[in-house]
Amino acid sequence: MTVLPNGRPSTPPASPVSDVDVVVVGAGISGLAVADGLIRAGRSVRVFEAGPSLGGRIRSVEVPGGHADLGPTWFWPGEQRVARLVDEFGLPVHDQWTTGDALVAADGEVRRIDRPVMPPSYRFTNGAISLVDGLAGRLPSGTVTVDCPVTRVERATAHLTVHTSGGVWTAGAVIIAVPPSLAMDSGMIDPDHLEPSVAEAASSIPVWMGGVTKAVAIYPEPFWRQLGLSGTAFGPGQPFGEVHDMSGPNGTPAVLFGFAQAPLADPAEAFVGQLTALFGPKAAEPAQVLAVDWGRQPFTAPTRLGHTNRYDLYGSPHLTTPSWAGRLHWTSTETATTAPGHIEGALAAAERTLGALLAG
Ligand SMILES: Cc1cc2nc3c(=O)[nH]c(=O)nc-3n(C[C@H](O)[C@H](O)[C@H](O)COP(=O)(O)OP(=O)(O)OC[C@H]3O[C@@H](n4cnc5c(N)ncnc54)[C@H](O)[C@@H]3O)c2cc1C
Repeated sequence: MTVLPNGRPSTPPASPVSDVDVVVVGAGISGLAVADGLIRAGRSVRVFEAGPSLGGRIRSVEVPGGHADLGPTWFWPGEQRVARLVDEFGLPVHDQWTTGDALVAADGEVRRIDRPVMPPSYRFTNGAISLVDGLAGRLPSGTVTVDCPVTRVERATAHLTVHTSGGVWTAGAVIIAVPPSLAMDSGMIDPDHLEPSVAEAASSIPVWMGGVTKAVAIYPEPFWRQLGLSGTAFGPGQPFGEVHDMSGPNGTPAVLFGFAQAPLADPAEAFVGQLTALFGPKAAEPAQVLAVDWGRQPFTAPTRLGHTNRYDLYGSPHLTTPSWAGRLHWTSTETATTAPGHIEGALAAAERTLGALLAG
């Protein structure tokens, strides 16, 4: 039996065949949200998660004085679904720090920009994972099985058959709460059993931030603020094209993070080197540096990285409409018509799928 991070045991899959109303593939925020809605509407649901923990691209770690996000950092004004969950779970949030000048490093020079360069945004004080924990904590014990990849979903006459590493299930409907191109790349669904336009869209849609490296440097204090700097920096042509302040409320913990679009041999070293060039010698002495190359994380993006830049397929009607006579639903953030790519998009996609299933 696998114990989930929230301490609740996860029931091993029954074998060889069981029946359930809905199987959800993936326990990222979209999968957990749709499972939560279905269970509250009285449906029987099983969620199978390939990895050892919940949250997918949402990942936070505890650091001295608070939390650091290794996946998503922000949510934005107007993202009502995130705001609603924040309220429901009573999660502490704080404003993104924007006071001070931004920096632009180009042509061998570092320039200061003394006007706001980023739209206002909010941060989850206890890490974005607090949203995942809130949803997971509401699911009945045994709903989610971790370390249990779904390997195949097949269409039968009156149900779908779901093959997992731990057994075979039949379900009235299956929710692919996994980026469609990852599901297709893994061989989970036979493209010849989909409408050609659906197979094409599902295979070609990129995974949002699926190939990005995020590096996080934790400092004893937010020294850049004392220099009149916001912590935001842009470095076209540099390993980390963007850098931002990711500190907790009142600057504790004091954190800078950056995104690199291309894989790096030693992202931590590259990040600290770049920060030192931008913010001066204090940046050379972080207490801790963490880095995640999301392109190399299992169960995140197709192995054929960079094979597609078809961002026009986000919210494609081929994927917002269920396949297989309403039994197969595409539900990752990439399928959202509102805020695709964001946590808000994942919640919007879950809401759309929930509506379709409860109407059916
Ligand atoms: C570095 C980074 C920074 C980001 N910054 C922001 C931000 O600031 N704000 C914002 O709103 N969004 C941001 N995002 C995007 C945000 O993380 C995503 O929109 C959201 O987490 C997607 O959730 P999801 O449920 O759609 O997909 P995922 O989180 O990808 O969940 C899919 C789940 O399916 C599982 N899975 C995969 N294959 C299988 C299988 N075969 N069987 C079973 N399970 C499987 C995976 O392990 C995963 O748990 C960022 C993402 C990254 C990586």
